[in-house]
Amino acid sequence: MTTTPTSTRHFVLASRPHGAPTNDNFRLETAEVPDLSDGQVLVRNEVMSVDPYMRGRMNDVKSYVPPFQIDAPLEGGAVGEVIASRSDDVAVGSHVVHGLGWREHAVLPAKGATVVDTDIAPASAYLGLLGMPGLTAYVGLTAVAEMREGDTVFISGAAGAVGQVAGQIAKLLGAERVVGSAGSAEKVERLLELGYDAAFNYKEKPVAEGLREVAPDGIDVYFDNVGGDHLEAAISALRLHGRVALCGAVSQYNATEAPAGPRNLFQAIGKGLTLRGFIVGQYPQLAAEYRAKAAGWLAEGRLRGDETFRDGLDGAPQAFIDLLEGANTGKMLVRL
Ligand code: NDP
Repeated sequence: MTTTPTSTRHFVLASRPHGAPTNDNFRLETAEVPDLSDGQVLVRNEVMSVDPYMRGRMNDVKSYVPPFQIDAPLEGGAVGEVIASRSDDVAVGSHVVHGLGWREHAVLPAKGATVVDTDIAPASAYLGLLGMPGLTAYVGLTAVAEMREGDTVFISGAAGAVGQVAGQIAKLLGAERVVGSAGSAEKVERLLELGYDAAFNYKEKPVAEGLREVAPDGIDVYFDNVGGDHLEAAISALRLHGRVALCGAVSQYNATEAPAGPRNLFQAIGKGLTLRGFIVGQYPQLAAEYRAKAAGWLAEGRLRGDETFRDGLDGAPQAFIDLLEGANTGKMLVRL
């Protein structure tokens, strides 16, 4: 039986990063575990997520999600075991996914926690393949890019959490050819094992050149995780009525100056392109559909995802810093 701790540890944002984050931007603190109020649960976090979007929340700017506050605990996806409950809906012993990561224990309303089935997949999968990144890949391809059977699809950041899933789902949904880019030869190799038809290392050659080699006849869909020169190369490679899902721009998150936009956007006019941005949370209606499909694909062995683990809460800031540098293959996670 797990005993309820009296104190626990969490990370706060100590200062806002300028450019790439450093360990100095984070501070580990100890706090008392509060008594539960009616309707609350106490969760012992087992695994937490670090995600690129957290970099945006460290800036003091208005966005689709409010900025982290200095000296306040950081937040993010986490899965853990409920060790105390004052809710009839969530029993002690359940595993839940919720939004209070960056801490060893979380106290939250039961309605802010979703019970997950760790018999189907390990807890960590609910932060990757079966969680927000997986859903992002599905939403981006289906509702946003309106991918069709027979399309040629290009995915950047292809070896990351979203990208690995996106490539496999594109294939499962009938794409004729799926190509990707990633930042190392090992990652490119892994993409081919996961079913990508071709991939290139964007650090070895200009993106436009790499893309021409893997998709000489052009592309119909571009799933953009990177922005910048990747988006520019994709615009040039897109065919008539091509579609872009603007999912992320990780190449620019640590930028200290406004990046130059794609210089060839005018091509969107003649080609009748659609460029559509999205936030996964804008498509809640697709969550259940995705979970059902993904669980089926997972059980059939048709959907796989790598996980890169770091151990211990103390290592969470470094895991986040390293994520933005490409140290992960698949989902970057911290075991607590
Ligand atoms: P990843 O697992 O893909 O990790 C980030 C990756 O970014 C790194 O592994 C690294 O891989 C790559 N990277 C870092 N710098 C650069 C660069 N300068 N150029 C190209 N690649 C770079 O993260 P996620 O899968 O969680 O997220 C992928 C993208 O999707 C991000 O842009 C994220 O913000 C976005 N996103 C958007 C959501 C939405 O709702 N719109 C939801 C979730 C994610 P490499 O070694 O290949 O460089």
